[in-house]
Amino acid sequence: MSEVELHRGQVQVYKPGSQHVVGDGFHVRNLFPSNDLDREVSPFLMLDYAGPTFYPATEIPRGVGEHPHRGFETVTIVYQGLVAHRDSAGHAGVIGPGDVQWMTAASGVVHEELHEKEWAARGGTLQAIQLWVNIPKASKMSAPRYQTIGDEQIPVVDLADGAGHLRVIAGTVEGKQGPANTITPIELYDLRLKAGHTVTLDLPAGYNRALFVLSGRIRVNGTAAGEAELAVIHSHSERGTIVLNGKEDAVVLVMAGEPIEEPIARYGPFVMNTKQELAQAVQDYQAGKMGHLS
Ligand code: MN
Repeated sequence: MSEVELHRGQVQVYKPGSQHVVGDGFHVRNLFPSNDLDREVSPFLMLDYAGPTFYPATEIPRGVGEHPHRGFETVTIVYQGLVAHRDSAGHAGVIGPGDVQWMTAASGVVHEELHEKEWAARGGTLQAIQLWVNIPKASKMSAPRYQTIGDEQIPVVDLADGAGHLRVIAGTVEGKQGPANTITPIELYDLRLKAGHTVTLDLPAGYNRALFVLSGRIRVNGTAAGEAELAVIHSHSERGTIVLNGKEDAVVLVMAGEPIEEPIARYGPFVMNTKQELAQAVQDYQAGKMGHLS
């Protein structure tokens, strides 16, 4: 094997880089940017892994109250529990296990993300991911958009030899197209891989690629990754093949996307290209230009 081939598909595994509570309802472990991952995972900006956390019954739903976003998308994937969302553009919805909410903040929205009221009144375990996806300069100031993607809308691809299955949230696998409309090319899969089995993922050339293991244990191109770990494939090869082995039954989020080669300026809930644009975002939010919750 040549040196080039040895470096092809090189995998680095990261543990959560920080943990905190978002509002009072999402106990999260952050995988990036807290691991100083930036260009390697573009167009993805942030991955927070919430739970699994048990929340006792309460009449006042926990969560995160009214706050803004501008310049990117928030993608919420629920595995356990129920999350209710409401925004200043008039969108509202509840998502549960298997559902995805793909919110394009773009020029700006104000929203709240709470445990669903009746679910909160019973209490239960919440497990979810929030992924922030960058959008290019040309789309940062376009109108907000909201996609609620129900479990039943997400096509399921059975893996060969009973290795498990894969749900296509975005992108295409074996001719099955995921329902999410994305601004730049993205592949996003909910993969369930069985112990002792292997799957080969053929991802488009030139995409950044990362895998987050929610539970179980896998090998990614030979490198071990376990619960709450992120495997980043550092590779500049033209080919995008990843070989996964299940060491234990595993739940894995597969993320791949065409990198957005633009400067990133971040400030809390705003992600723009320049500091000046961030200052403008703060000013616009304070002036009420991103709206309010009714
Ligand atoms: Mn938010």
